[in-house]
Amino acid sequence: IKAQGGNGFYFYSADMNVASSQRLTMETQLRRALERNEFVLHYQPQLSLHSGRIIGMEALLRWQHPERGLVSPAEFIPLLEETGMIVAVGDWVLHTACAQNSAWMAAGLPPLRMAVNLSARQFRQRDLIESVNQALQNTGLAPEHLELEITESIMIQDLQTTITTLNQLHELGIQISIDDFGTGYSSLSYLKRLPINKIKIDQSFVRDICTDPDDEAIANAVISLGHNLKMQVIAEGVETLEQLEQLRAQGCDEIQGYYFSRPLPAEAFAQLVRKSLIT
Ligand code: C2E
Ligand code: CA
Ligand code: CA
Ligand code: CA
Repeated sequence: IKAQGGNGFYFYSADMNVASSQRLTMETQLRRALERNEFVLHYQPQLSLHSGRIIGMEALLRWQHPERGLVSPAEFIPLLEETGMIVAVGDWVLHTACAQNSAWMAAGLPPLRMAVNLSARQFRQRDLIESVNQALQNTGLAPEHLELEITESIMIQDLQTTITTLNQLHELGIQISIDDFGTGYSSLSYLKRLPINKIKIDQSFVRDICTDPDDEAIANAVISLGHNLKMQVIAEGVETLEQLEQLRAQGCDEIQGYYFSRPLPAEAFAQLVRKSLIT
């Protein structure tokens, strides 16, 4: 360790070495994960507050690590993004989610909408439209059964490209939603210029919605904004019946969260849908 030598240029610490070697290991392992089929998708139901039914699900990425077990995306998505591997992995997610939805429909499940997260980097890929189209063609999924979740961050970079890309996706017949709404820097004027179908109220506003008047006011504002712009509004991170009732009273259209179900492996999700049909 050469901590505070005369020459600051050589400054480094043991901690940094451990961190960077761990990072390198993880990067190497992530590079192999795709070939070795270590990624899996879990699916979290989305419910209509109008009908009380499951109307769709969000596909959420997991890494089935050979030694560490199921690794959460918070631990590896940032690295996938930094290294650009998110494009290949994102493409796998898109294909797998579309194939799953198509298979469920063929197996007799009611038509559901599959929501897939799209990273900013993926969104900027030149061949994005082609990749999305390919995923639909290869799996036979109708475009209205696919929804892409994007964050506000894509709007602040190059608005003209964003408009063009979103319009192309919209023309394919795909649904588009804005994830984590209210946590980014999107200008409200962008909203009316973009073909957005749905706004997702971020879970940070949902958490204290029953006790914090500010959060209640924010949810109210987002719901009326969405409705006035002819968009659907979904709340995520709904963990209690009280939150659900509050959101229903405020006119929110859909909910997603642990209250109804955590994200589930494919088979468990299908079972939940089948069970919810007969009750
Ligand atoms: P997100 O898109 O905002 O996804 C919602 C996250 O909230 C998920 O975490 C979900 O498991 C969690 N969640 C759902 N209901 C509740 C609840 O009631 N309470 C709480 N506390 N949390 C809830 P997860 O699965 O760990 O994913 C974390 C983030 O990783 C996602 O946030 C998304 O940004 C990213 N991510 C996941 N899968 C993908 C993917 O396929 N592609 C890309 N680009 N990003 C992904
Ligand atoms: Ca999301
Ligand atoms: Ca979110
Ligand atoms: Ca988030």
